[in-house]
Amino acid sequence: ALPEGRPMPPTAPTGAAPTGAALDDAVLEADHRHVLHSWSAQAHLPSFVVAGGAGSRVWDHAGTTWLDFSSQLVNTNIGHQHPAVVAAIKEQADLLTTVSPATANRTRGRAAERVLARAPEGFAKVFFTNGGADANENAVRMARLHTGRDKVISAYRSYHGNTGAAVVATGDWRRVPNEYARGHVHAFGPYLYRSEFWATTEAEECARALHHLERVVQCEGPTSVAAVLLETIPGTAGVLVPPPGYLAGVREICDRYGIVLILDEVMAGFGRTGSWFAFEAHDVVPDLITFAKGVNSGYVPAGGVLVSEAIAATFDERVFPGGLTYSGHPLAMAAIVAALDAMAAEGVVENAARVGRDVLGPGLAALADENPLVGEVRGTGVFWAVELVADQDTREPLDAASVARIKALCLERGVLPFVAENRVHVVPPCVVTDDEAREGLAVLAGVLRDVAA
Ligand code: PLP
Repeated sequence: ALPEGRPMPPTAPTGAAPTGAALDDAVLEADHRHVLHSWSAQAHLPSFVVAGGAGSRVWDHAGTTWLDFSSQLVNTNIGHQHPAVVAAIKEQADLLTTVSPATANRTRGRAAERVLARAPEGFAKVFFTNGGADANENAVRMARLHTGRDKVISAYRSYHGNTGAAVVATGDWRRVPNEYARGHVHAFGPYLYRSEFWATTEAEECARALHHLERVVQCEGPTSVAAVLLETIPGTAGVLVPPPGYLAGVREICDRYGIVLILDEVMAGFGRTGSWFAFEAHDVVPDLITFAKGVNSGYVPAGGVLVSEAIAATFDERVFPGGLTYSGHPLAMAAIVAALDAMAAEGVVENAARVGRDVLGPGLAALADENPLVGEVRGTGVFWAVELVADQDTREPLDAASVARIKALCLERGVLPFVAENRVHVVPPCVVTDDEAREGLAVLAGVLRDVAA
């Protein structure tokens, strides 16, 4: 019974509950009426319902299915509804569903152990967060406390999350209302296709981008720079795989000036590039690694910072002032343990490497050869971008209306793409099969052919 004086709840609607397409309509109606959506004008929200999923596919209530070439926000590395991960979450839910970060908990310890097992030698601890933005937030704070310096240099073409320091470190349009924050400096990273340095080869682009970064450090005053914060492979900004030697060169600059190197592996980490961490292919070891997304495929929000021994030691006798009520949440931790165990047992990372090498890489290269809208394809593993242009010679980006049409046609033909600016990102789950990868590529190729015509 309701306590006296409280109004009665609204009467439940009578009649049969909607099903199928009618349920999709009802879901959309409630969503558009009540939810304030991220990164959207609320008057122009997409009409897309996801009711369920399994592996590399999702579906709505009417039974329409899509091949998920987006992994949602590039996080569902192990695919949708992996039974072992779902079971582990249920099992943990029966045991304990919340615990303060100030206590010790078996599942959290296990999760930290699993994450550390994937880190290079010399990493000591994990600081857990609820996602990627707060991982970067806390990594920046660790770097500042460790060095006693203030400034953070990040790349113009980057995305680091949508909270205070993380969004200011971000190089795209989302940082702009927060520009007043102090201590953040941006530099250009390598991007040969649209070189800021007038370079014509990878080697030139690499050398000039490194020279530029070192000049920024020198001009800012090396003793004021706490950290260089970079995505190992800038993801949302276009899957900008750095040229060989670039990250090793950044490491050298950081060492020369006593700067902490933070690599953001939130999108690139835990299998997406075909290795556990993307930096493994770049001959570099950072001081701090931030992660989220693929660590448990987003089944329960989780992220964190992998901390080197030297930086961890800073906080042996000194309080680290970071902390979140839900740091190391038991359900998220259970999902990490189960996801990482299943990925190892099932060769999920190896699968991502193989599908990238045998199917996506060659398929996208063929697409670039045949279609006049494709300016460049870049990527590795299950982490690719197709950059679309109006003109291959001038490299003028394809207009927004044509990109929107490409997205709509992909959806109509059963593929859910990840579209950013003038690019289609091909980022299926790491468990995608060869046949699914071919199926998605065939749809994308057909759509681009039709739009080009
Ligand atoms: N860093 C990178 C590289 C990302 O791609 C993202 C999200 O897309 C973030 C950080 C932010 O992560 P979250 O949305 O979990 O806060």
